[in-house]
Formats: sequence, structure tokens, C-alpha cells
Amino acid sequence: MFDTLSDRLNTVFSRLRGRGALGEQDVRDAMREVRVALLEADVALPVARDFIARVTERAVGQEVLKSVTPGQQVIKIVNDELVAMLGGEEESAGEAPPLNLNVTPPAVVMMVGLQGSGKTTSTAKIAKLLKDKQGKKPLMASLDVNRPAAQEQLAVLGEQADVATLPIVPGQQPVEIAKRAMGAAKLQNYDVLLLDTAGRLHVDEALMAEMKAVAGAADPAEVLLVVDSLTGQDAVNVAQSFSGEVPLTGVVLTRMDGDARGGAALSMRAVTGKPIKFAGTGEKLEAIERFHPGRVADRILG
Ligand code: GDP
Repeated sequence: MFDTLSDRLNTVFSRLRGRGALGEQDVRDAMREVRVALLEADVALPVARDFIARVTERAVGQEVLKSVTPGQQVIKIVNDELVAMLGGEEESAGEAPPLNLNVTPPAVVMMVGLQGSGKTTSTAKIAKLLKDKQGKKPLMASLDVNRPAAQEQLAVLGEQADVATLPIVPGQQPVEIAKRAMGAAKLQNYDVLLLDTAGRLHVDEALMAEMKAVAGAADPAEVLLVVDSLTGQDAVNVAQSFSGEVPLTGVVLTRMDGDARGGAALSMRAVTGKPIKFAGTGEKLEAIERFHPGRVADRILG
């Protein structure tokens, strides 16, 4: 992840660092190279354009160019703006729980996304994290009635994670399952209810209608969109479609362990306006991390 981008930026930076004085044209030339590097990393065009405009505006000022270390100053500005692009310092600071579960229990966490994005796995990973790290008592329920094996898959993951799953009642529809899950959670004192909704191969109207109906019935405290970082621009397009239809509160970026160029991670915040809350880093149930913009920026800038 980010390897090529990292190399490209470092080449530009070492050139900037190597010079005592910088003129406006030098900055503009460097930013042109950064722009190409971002686009090659599959960052969405408007996001890359805004980024370059912001960095350039800050970097061509007299204060920067007349300073003793103009190159360093420009690099610092790129770093700051990269952190902002990934979600901002406020989200990387502190260890506050990434999910807002301060509601009357059960706090409902609704997981949405396309089929194959890693939604079911992420549901179990987050449930396990809440149980092991935050002392929560989570219940999981699969609302995926399209794929016959989906509900069983969540039950298997629940056993592996030692997290309870709602018993399967054949023939029930998603909203009915959501209501039954809420009833069971209340009755049995589960404080978090994770709803793994149905995926589709593509975003379509039926899927969006179902997501809205479930959100309407379950009043979720968090709606997390799961996207596959390997799909780059497609992940960004999916995020755009979902964010217009369901009240997303955050994003889970999966397959961060894969060989992605990083464009999805870099574009997601700007496109959805929502933070990336977790990163999936492998197939195992422990392979999930909080997403820290500052740390990711450090990794990119080496
Ligand atoms: P769903 O259709 O969206 O529910 O997707 P699944 O949760 O079934 O995941 C599809 C496949 O991706 C499974 O084989 C998962 O083990 C795998 N997977 C999910 N998240 C990650 C991740 O972060 N990294 C890797 N390497 N594989 C993942």
C-alpha cells in the first residue's frame, strides 16, 4: 500500500530539500509532479486537484519562500494537507473510541456495502473488538436474505469470535429480522447490535431502498460503509452512491494488507465527508485497526 506514491513523493522531496532557495516556479513544478503521483495512486481527480491548490496556495507565500529552509517548509505543508486529506489531526489524536455508542442500548451499528467488500468479516471483527477491547456485550444479526449462505457465514464467524448471533428464522425479511434483533438485544441485555446488511454486486435501487428501510426501522447510532481498498476509484464511486442515500457515519476500508495504490484511502474522506474509522488488514478476525490519518501520512512520507 502506498509504496509507489511514497517513492514518487520522496523523489520530489529530496529535490526540494537539496536546494537552498526556492522560487514560485520551483514550487509549481514540484506540485505538478505531486499531482501526477497522486493520480497514479488512483486518487480521485477533484480530490487531487483541491489538494494541489491548497498546498500551492500555502507554499508560494513569501514567508515560505524567503525562509531559511523553504524546501522543508513545503514538505511540511504537504504533510499537513495529506493528514487533512486522510481525515484530519483531530481524528488521529487521542484514543477516543471510534464508534459513538452513547445511546440508549442497544446501540445499533449498521454495516453496509457491496458483496465481497468484506462486510461480514468486518462485522465480526468489530464485534470482537468491542467485546475484547471495550468490554461490550455485542449481538450480531445478518439481514442478508439474498445469499443463502450469508446468515450461516455470520454465525460461523460469531462462533470463532465468541460473539452471539441472532438465531436464523428462515423466510424473514430484512426489516423483520432487524426488529427481532432489537427485541432480542433489549431482552437479553446486549448493549451493541451489529446489523450485517445484504450486499449486491452493484449499487442498485432495490439495495438502496432496503438500506433505507432498515435504517428507518433500526435507527442506527453508526452506519459504516465497508469498501475494498483494492478497488480504488470504484470504491470511491460506491461510497459516493451510498453517501447520498443512507446516513453514513464512517467508512471501513478493507484489504489494506493488499497491494493497493492507496487512492481509495486518500479520496474517501473528501468524497464522503465521513471519517475512515477502521482499516481491515487481513482475513483473521484480529486483523483490524483504527485508521489514524497522522500515522498513515507518516507511512506515505516515509
Ligand atoms: P462480504 O460479501 O462483503 O460480506 O465479504 P466477506 O466478509 O465475505 O469477505 C470476502 C473475502 O474477503 C473473505 O474471504 C474475507 O476473508 C476477505 N477479507 C475481508 N476483509 C479482509 C481484509 O481486510 N484483508 C484481506 N486480506 N482479506 C479480507
